[in-house]
Amino acid sequence: MTPAQILAQLKKFGVPFKEYRDWKTHSRNHKGAWGPVHGLMVHHTGSDSKDQRSLLYNGIAGLPGPLCHFGLDQEGVIHLVGWGRANHAGAGDDDVLDAVIAEKPIPKDDESNTDGNSRFYGVEIWYSGSHPMTDEQYATLRLLSAAICDFHNWNEGSVIGHGEWGSPGKWDPGYASGKMMDMDAVRKDIKATISKGKPAAEPVKVTKPAPKPKPTAPAFPGRSYFRPGARNKYVTQLGTQLVKRGYGRFYRVGPGPQWTAVDRAAVKAFQRAQGWSGSDADGYPGPQTWKRLFS
Ligand SMILES: [Zn+2]
Repeated sequence: MTPAQILAQLKKFGVPFKEYRDWKTHSRNHKGAWGPVHGLMVHHTGSDSKDQRSLLYNGIAGLPGPLCHFGLDQEGVIHLVGWGRANHAGAGDDDVLDAVIAEKPIPKDDESNTDGNSRFYGVEIWYSGSHPMTDEQYATLRLLSAAICDFHNWNEGSVIGHGEWGSPGKWDPGYASGKMMDMDAVRKDIKATISKGKPAAEPVKVTKPAPKPKPTAPAFPGRSYFRPGARNKYVTQLGTQLVKRGYGRFYRVGPGPQWTAVDRAAVKAFQRAQGWSGSDADGYPGPQTWKRLFS
């Protein structure tokens, strides 16, 4: 991942974070290889102090910084302190690395023959390890793991504790003096976060079908088309529309082009249904009848 990519992943998963100094270009790349990266390694710093940014950024005598990529404070906020090769993993067991790559159960670590600093992202959690980390730290650890695994298409099998790696004397992340957390249980939680915590995909946009254009009423052709003896397409049009509007009961056959008493009766019924009477309901359509019938 590039610095821009990890920032995007942190945002995507809602991981609380802050940037420290020039973390994007702060690395040990001038001292050794960086990548390909195969997993995330979890550490405790061994200290309960409240601000460990400078320690992780600068390092200590004999172990120059950055000492990790992610510092994780007691409130659950990630502090980005470096990017690239960092001094956190030391030498470990190649069998463990193979298992991480294959995302298979982690074997017993009994060798220190492989450079871990080029192969792992590292998160240093700000606590002594002699007591459990805070709930906030654990929640953020799960989110951070999910954010990284999501980017690389990894599963929880790509997250290990430093104590599983093969560096002699390491037992982080701890929950009591000298005792490492049950990393299989941690991975189980991370698995749940990966599947559940993954932000929902963009909702599928449903394209609203364009509203059907309202048929515009045809222009009234003129009264002369609807007189006894008249025969034309407008009579057919009128009758067809009357059937559509529920006056089909008048037509035993048709409607057709011949103006008949049946057409007149149907028109008259329609006009009356409009509340009209007298010459407005004489069965001969005028512009008002036409307009109302086709609207
Ligand atoms: Zn460690």
